[in-house]
Amino acid sequence: MKYDVIIIGAGPGGIFSAYELMKNRPDMKVAVFDAGNSLEKRKCPIDGDKVKSCIKCKTCAIMNGFGGAGAFSDGKYNITNDFGGTLYEYIGKDKALELMKYVDEINVSHGGAGTRMFSTAGSEFKKLCMQNKLTLLDASVRHLGTDINYVVLENLYAELKDYADFKFLTPIRKIEKLGDEHYKVIYDDGEDECTNLIVSVGRSGSKWMESVCEDMGIPTSSNRVDLGVRVEIPAVIFSHLTDKLYESKIVYRTTKFEDNVRTFCMNPNGIVVNENTNGIVTVNGHSFEDADKKTDNTNFALLVSKHFSEPFKDSNGYGESIAKLSNMLGGGVIVQRFGDLERGRRSNGKRIEEGTVRPTLAATPGDLSLVLPKRVLDGIIEMIYALDKIAPGTANDDTLLYGVEVKFYNMEVSLDNNLESVHKGMYIIGDGSGVTHSLSHASASGVYVARRVAKNL
Ligand SMILES: Cc1cc2nc3c(=O)[nH]c(=O)nc-3n(C[C@H](O)[C@H](O)[C@H](O)COP(=O)(O)OP(=O)(O)OC[C@H]3O[C@@H](n4cnc5c(N)ncnc54)[C@H](O)[C@@H]3O)c2cc1C
Repeated sequence: MKYDVIIIGAGPGGIFSAYELMKNRPDMKVAVFDAGNSLEKRKCPIDGDKVKSCIKCKTCAIMNGFGGAGAFSDGKYNITNDFGGTLYEYIGKDKALELMKYVDEINVSHGGAGTRMFSTAGSEFKKLCMQNKLTLLDASVRHLGTDINYVVLENLYAELKDYADFKFLTPIRKIEKLGDEHYKVIYDDGEDECTNLIVSVGRSGSKWMESVCEDMGIPTSSNRVDLGVRVEIPAVIFSHLTDKLYESKIVYRTTKFEDNVRTFCMNPNGIVVNENTNGIVTVNGHSFEDADKKTDNTNFALLVSKHFSEPFKDSNGYGESIAKLSNMLGGGVIVQRFGDLERGRRSNGKRIEEGTVRPTLAATPGDLSLVLPKRVLDGIIEMIYALDKIAPGTANDDTLLYGVEVKFYNMEVSLDNNLESVHKGMYIIGDGSGVTHSLSHASASGVYVARRVAKNL
């Protein structure tokens, strides 16, 4: 089949590419391929009863399929250039913000109306943070919540399915360039051609993306991974911040190593969850808009960025090895009380049970100091004490730390200001390009290239 545009990946990048093409060029022939399932068929077999841990399905229902990695996420759309990616380096800060706001409008008009938008602008917490050697980053955040995020995706799919040919459970194995603006995509039982190709394969497609870049001579660079833990505390300890800001991105510079430690993905009244990346189980968090699903706890990650220089190039491999170590020791995610970590002893079931914070994830009690590098762990401990000054109680003995949380970064693909690769008509967007690391940036990158393709074709 010959298409005008083929989109590989139905995550936020791919969805918003398709949506914007539909709005601007209803005449075009568009196909969207995804390695995973349609939204309603995405079901992780882990039920905590018969299936307790990852059974390494052929396609991961959490990471792959319509909605991509963000489908069951907390649906926090951060509208900012301060974090979430470097899209602004390609398209400019104003354009990036404008597109993120546009994405927000679409989400609101597709089921997100009534959800809250939070902002750090004019917040009194900026000063409080500064007084305690912490920096609060600027952002507005739309919190859809896992449940409304799902509704928005359902509504977007209902509109898109009559416009684009969706081919689920169809991982693309190979891309062939037949000429400028002429590509062939090859999958297990067929192949299709197109004049414009938008590749948006996210983090789960990072290894495949690397091989595509190698095959097609697209230059890449890579040197970063973020490592850390997810902190779980009683929601009241952080409620003065979360009630006003929902998500606060706070950075602390450690005195010992002068590393930056930052909060990431804050989930007020949420739950801690497993995340599976290529068979490696790490930790993440969710929260819900629905009052019935709210818990008494808040969770957030504390992450330290590791940048490597010559000769080491495999920063993701480094993160994977540490995550594998925790999987080896704990059979999955490890949980430890802060008090136990500070006393140099592992947590056990009894101590967790006696603690005041009820864990929302059934993880294995253990010792994170056997897993995380000293430099990372020392930074996290320093930051917990710094946070304790603006949110007393954070450094309580019963505070729970789950590990490990790893944020893998895709290698950065060499792209021009249109997010076009060295091959004309081949665009690489979203987290798979290394340019974005978030829902709003990935979605905005999709809108951006779709507008260009719509205009050029
Ligand atoms: C649990 C969790 C919670 C998160 N919470 C938030 C949050 O609250 N806010 C936020 O900003 N970000 C969050 N993120 C990150 C966010 O989900 C991603 O930044 C975003 O989804 C990236 O969008 P994308 O379209 O680039 O890639 P993805 O969403 O990863 O989508 C890529 C798609 O490509 C498909 N694919 C991969 N390889 C192939 C191939 N060879 N052929 C065909 N299809 C392929 C995959 O199946 C996948 O569906 C969260 C992530 C997780 C895992």
